[in-house]
Amino acid sequence: MNDEDFCRYFIPGPTWVRPEILQEMTHPMISHRSGEFRELMRRIIPNLKTLFQTKQRAFIATSSGTGLLEGALLNTVPRRVLVTTCGAFSERWLAIAEQLGVEVDHLSVPWGQAIDPDLLATRFTGRRYHYDAVTITHNETSTGVINDLKALAEVVRNESRDTLILVDAVSSLASAPVLFDEWGLDVCLASTQKGVAMPPGLTLFAVSDRALQAAEKKPYRGTYFDFLEYDKQTSNDGSVFTPSIPHYYALDRQLDAIVNQETLEKRWERHSQMQRMTVKKLEGIADLAAPAAHASPSVSALLPKHKSAEAVLAEMRARGYTLGSGYGQWKQDTFRIGHMGDITLPSLEAMLDVLREVAA
Ligand code: PLP
Repeated sequence: MNDEDFCRYFIPGPTWVRPEILQEMTHPMISHRSGEFRELMRRIIPNLKTLFQTKQRAFIATSSGTGLLEGALLNTVPRRVLVTTCGAFSERWLAIAEQLGVEVDHLSVPWGQAIDPDLLATRFTGRRYHYDAVTITHNETSTGVINDLKALAEVVRNESRDTLILVDAVSSLASAPVLFDEWGLDVCLASTQKGVAMPPGLTLFAVSDRALQAAEKKPYRGTYFDFLEYDKQTSNDGSVFTPSIPHYYALDRQLDAIVNQETLEKRWERHSQMQRMTVKKLEGIADLAAPAAHASPSVSALLPKHKSAEAVLAEMRARGYTLGSGYGQWKQDTFRIGHMGDITLPSLEAMLDVLREVAA
């Protein structure tokens, strides 16, 4: 590995991007209505479906992930949504749903905890309301907690066949298993600057048949994220609006690297190994803020034992390493390590060795 490839950048997104992926973004411009663009789409979409583990449909929007949080609600929720929250990013669904003026129920657990599937089930007992959708944030980036998406989705599916499951997989896609079809998800979205290890600018999303049918019944779906338009244009290997074409070149190459070269299983395993290495190396130095059973494979929020989080971050910066600060109400007490995307075990190990010295 040469020096340029050696990562010293460990924030939980945007993550480090391999130089050859950045290089893909320098292709000369083409039209998004051209045959070349359609060819690009014909290569990208099958790999994108594999990334989401779906045979249904996968789309690309030129937007950050937040756009699709709004888009998912706009397309699928005519009346009432149940929002589950366990930290800052899951609370974003709540803010958007309230802003859209739909009826919102809120299931919240304290920061640092995962959503308990049994607790979710209680929201369906007695069936006081019908929920058009439930929102789940798979990996809560502010606390480093990964929710058991499979178990949560199972609860919703068992309790209500026609409640849609809307999933924010911004910091889990390509880092942890996200089995869209097998788990019965309906909308699942992720921006590209985390586990996919590309520059920010695109959001990738999968939409189920059920979700598309819900969108068909909804008179107002907004303009920019109208799922019916995405379905129509993507079916013809096209794009709804002028997309960020440089990102598409990078996506083509990166999806091939993830799906066909590294393979998803190995990528998920590498992320688990990075999580375990982080905890092991920092024993006695910093505690994981998340419960071990829900420790995120992509981001660790850590409570330093001997120095303030601010001092740890500043000293690491002085040594040439960028780590993530704590987020929101955890800003003072924690710092975060993003171990996601294309970060390698040797890069992470080298950084953790320095961190051990600095935080001791
Ligand atoms: N959801 C999660 C879990 C996130 O971590 C983030 C960003 O860090 C977002 C949503 C917002 O994504 P974006 O910044 O791409 O809009």
